[in-house]
Amino acid sequence: MSSMPIKALVCGAGGFIGGHLVKRLKQEGYWVRGVDIKAHEYTHLPSDEFVQGDLRDQAVVAQVVTPDLAEIYQLAADMGGAGYIFTGDHDAGVMHNSATINLNVVEEARRKKVPKIFYSSSACIYPERIQTGTHNPGLKEDLAYPAGPDSEYGWEKLFSERLYLAYARNHGLEVHIARFHNIFGPEGTWTGGREKAPAAMCRKVAEAPVGGTMEVWGDGEQTRTFLYIDECLDGVRRLMNSSLSGPFNIGSEELISINDLARMAMDIAGKRLAIHHITGPQGVRGRRSDNTLIREKLGWAPDRPLREGMAKTYAWIDVQVQRSRHAG
Ligand code: NAD
Repeated sequence: MSSMPIKALVCGAGGFIGGHLVKRLKQEGYWVRGVDIKAHEYTHLPSDEFVQGDLRDQAVVAQVVTPDLAEIYQLAADMGGAGYIFTGDHDAGVMHNSATINLNVVEEARRKKVPKIFYSSSACIYPERIQTGTHNPGLKEDLAYPAGPDSEYGWEKLFSERLYLAYARNHGLEVHIARFHNIFGPEGTWTGGREKAPAAMCRKVAEAPVGGTMEVWGDGEQTRTFLYIDECLDGVRRLMNSSLSGPFNIGSEELISINDLARMAMDIAGKRLAIHHITGPQGVRGRRSDNTLIREKLGWAPDRPLREGMAKTYAWIDVQVQRSRHAG
């Protein structure tokens, strides 16, 4: 007798983390429906069904959220790197689009009695005032309040965390919330202005001629922690299989400056370049995940070295750069 596969919906399946999650769930034997406003740009999705549709539209949400689903992973959001979020030019759209998606999805999950839902929040919810130094001691989950994110993107995430928790309290929906800290890896945005620092550093190194220069925004001493996609998904799946709602940080504790990240990419490529600092959006000065809570409650935290993930990411981006060169 063969058992029925568990059915999951991945919202934002056409995106970076969503695309990788579809693959992970398929490997685990799930039946998967993906939904996204766009097709995945970099990979063929192995989902059983893929709906191209706008989750701001309630009719689309009613179509994809069906009563046979056991799990929903809500990753769809209007987002981008510092070049998109911190200029202020996209604030109204970021807030309206992402909040509408979350309001629609959680309400439809309640109506269709889907048992559990995962929501991807962000390190961007943490107050700007505790991230002004490069040696951030670590962002513990309860430091989120009193609130003071540095972007409207962060405020929307904080609102939506509260929205999911309110549905859990009032309607018994099982929710699991993670605050992702700079997730990176292959098959993600690597050019065009929405890419984040690890991809941007890999691209700049791959594009530059040996002995050339690369540009870094600000003085490059701003610090972050970056988590490779596979470990991010390990955390998501463990959290979803637990009885814990969170929010929990899913991030690395390995702090690195953007200058050192650039040097790491050069080192991997075997290319020495001069760093040219230019003015550009930088976000907060220093940000680091603190994994005390997730380690204690879930008995797990990411522990792979950054360099390992950077090497895999550089290899993939180098191929994209060479291909676009031949195409152009
Ligand atoms: P991504 O931009 O690659 O994926 C988001 C997807 O949502 C995109 O494919 C986009 O087309 C889709 N989308 C946007 N508006 C939509 C709409 N109206 N209807 C349907 N689909 C829509 O980003 P990602 O890096 O994969 O991030 C996934 C989630 O994780 C997002 O919610 C993001 O805020 C969160 N997050 C990511 C990071 C990170 O470092 N990547 C960090 C913190 C939080």
